[in-house]
Amino acid sequence: MLATTYRRPYKVRAEHVAEPKIEHPNDAIVKVSRTCICGSDLHLYHGLVPDTRVGTIFGHEFCGIVTEVGSSVQNLQVGDHVIVPFNIACGSCYFCQRELYGNCHNTNPEATAVGGIFGYSHTTGGYHGGQAEYVRVPFADIGPTKIPEGMHIEDAVLLTDVVPTGYQAAEMGDIKEGDTVVVFGAGPVGILAARSAWLMGAGRVIVVDHVEYRLDFVAKWAPAEVINFKEIDDMVLHLKKITDWLGPDVCIDAVGGEADGSLWQSITGVRMKLQAGAATAAMWAINSVRKGGNISIVGVYGPTVNAIPLGNAVNKGLTIRANQASVKRHLPRLIEHVMAGRIKPREIITHRVPLEDVEDAYNMFSGKKEGCIKPILIP
Ligand code: NAD
Ligand code: ZN
Repeated sequence: MLATTYRRPYKVRAEHVAEPKIEHPNDAIVKVSRTCICGSDLHLYHGLVPDTRVGTIFGHEFCGIVTEVGSSVQNLQVGDHVIVPFNIACGSCYFCQRELYGNCHNTNPEATAVGGIFGYSHTTGGYHGGQAEYVRVPFADIGPTKIPEGMHIEDAVLLTDVVPTGYQAAEMGDIKEGDTVVVFGAGPVGILAARSAWLMGAGRVIVVDHVEYRLDFVAKWAPAEVINFKEIDDMVLHLKKITDWLGPDVCIDAVGGEADGSLWQSITGVRMKLQAGAATAAMWAINSVRKGGNISIVGVYGPTVNAIPLGNAVNKGLTIRANQASVKRHLPRLIEHVMAGRIKPREIITHRVPLEDVEDAYNMFSGKKEGCIKPILIP
């Protein structure tokens, strides 16, 4: 089958590999119908995630049709059309029982923080991903959710990650009626966080980025006030100024580590890029939010990041929450929002690319070219 494999930083390719097989009675095999490239894939692509092995199949955002199930699978049948959350979760550990599917204890033996994730290096369990024609889905009774009748396949695929992640970003901000919410990052996650902020009662939503076409899009789509940070001398001062000098009530980091670091550091024995400047959004968030305000971080970072103003966080009495999204927890509510048209995810899709042209798609998304917001791949 054709699959997107990792070669080296800034190099993936579509190549022919063996089809996945059932390896455990609770596995299913899914024939991928649509799969996306995510901002999280860019961290892998930029070589920022340790232990990303050559030949790993990328892709954690995919939906498709079940073609085979293991002998113990009860909830799925061959032919079911499913949304597959990016988290691989066992459903029974301490964390899964508390619906913290993103922190599952049993699906990632290598680490203590995050659970298993499809196609996301050996730091998240070393599973192959779904930017391919077929994918093996472990714990198939837990994650996969049937696509409701009448739901567009392009809405379904965005429910595997960016819609729930944007929603959880807003939820972790604990938005109160009338709050001013600032979202850093106008990528897919930030756009969905801005939209979700309205659904949670925000009174004002402001999005910060420096990519003009993304700001134009989110201004109309969320909708939101927008700020191009390249045009602002002092972002913290500016955000204070436009919020009666109090600061926003809630700040959301939907940026994470950027690939502009030129420093290197050894972490867990692997030499990796230290994400210099990567904490800019988190720093702006902590320094600008009002005293007693809330910070929500869904941007993905390497293990260590410098220049986080923790002293300010303490002195201002901030609440800081951060996590990988627990996709499954949000699906029932988000399916309702999508079916009712309160969120129209597929409107963020800008490019539909055949899987064989995946190199071009990564290049375009990474380089923010041609108005690219969310590219999807068609196997
Ligand atoms: P993306 O790369 O498309 O978007 C990131 C945006 O941030 C870009 O438009 C970029 O121009 C902008 N940006 C860069 N520096 C900035 C700054 N200092 N201030 C404001 N904006 C800045 O990525 P995406 O798909 O939207 O994902 C965003 C982040 O969320 C990534 O770090 C991704 O890994 C992470 N993510 C987390 C989860 C989770 O479960 N926590 C899930 C999906 C994605
Ligand atoms: Zn993703």
